[in-house]
Amino acid sequence: MIRTCDAIVLKTTPYAEGGAVVSFLGEHGERLTGVAKGIKKPTAKWVAAFEPLGMVRVAFFGKEQADLKRITRCDLAFSPLTLGHLEASLVMACLADLFDRVAREGIEDERLYRLLSACGRALKAKPDNALGILAYAEHWLLHCLGLLPHPQACGRCGSREAPLVLLSEDHGWCCAACTPVDAAEALPPGTRTFLRRLRTAPAEEAPAPDPADTAQQAVTALLRQRLLRELGGRLRSYEVLWRLV
Ligand SMILES: [Zn+2]
Repeated sequence: MIRTCDAIVLKTTPYAEGGAVVSFLGEHGERLTGVAKGIKKPTAKWVAAFEPLGMVRVAFFGKEQADLKRITRCDLAFSPLTLGHLEASLVMACLADLFDRVAREGIEDERLYRLLSACGRALKAKPDNALGILAYAEHWLLHCLGLLPHPQACGRCGSREAPLVLLSEDHGWCCAACTPVDAAEALPPGTRTFLRRLRTAPAEEAPAPDPADTAQQAVTALLRQRLLRELGGRLRSYEVLWRLV
């Protein structure tokens, strides 16, 4: 049985005899995997189609219940890659890693596909803002995982005015009115405003990193740490990114 669908390439792992196991984010937001044979051959027509974050039309062949289906075709429809743009390429690898861990086989979440395709298009349009787009994706992934409460009202006392000072596991965002936090450890002023910017901007308008914006710096670090902890710790793609940019 052959099944064809739109998908986004996540990761490619070498497999027996010059083949590869490729994971994808399917158009309904579920994780798909298949074996592609002979991708190392010089004539292999689809090598470029397996670059991370490439948007493809892919055909799988195999029994419905088979563990590993065979990929019979994979056509590239859109590539977010900007040749020679190191930072954008490294961020693409990070995004592929993140979504490969968050997406589940057999569990559809269309928000994941919408988010990753929006980030891919934003990377193509604005490769210079790759780090801003990464932070944007991390924020929305936490939201999709149900780990990011709405920042409008304090999760403990309901205040909409007092500045947010921390993100707690039990109450979500907590404000200065109800939660005493040492000034050195509290989130900077402007945290709620920055979170609102992240929530309301499309991926192409993701806030660009601004070293002078302390709220942005603190929120980005906090959300990244929370997400990576949830996904089981350090990701190799991130280590490569921090080493090179
Ligand atoms: Zn409060």
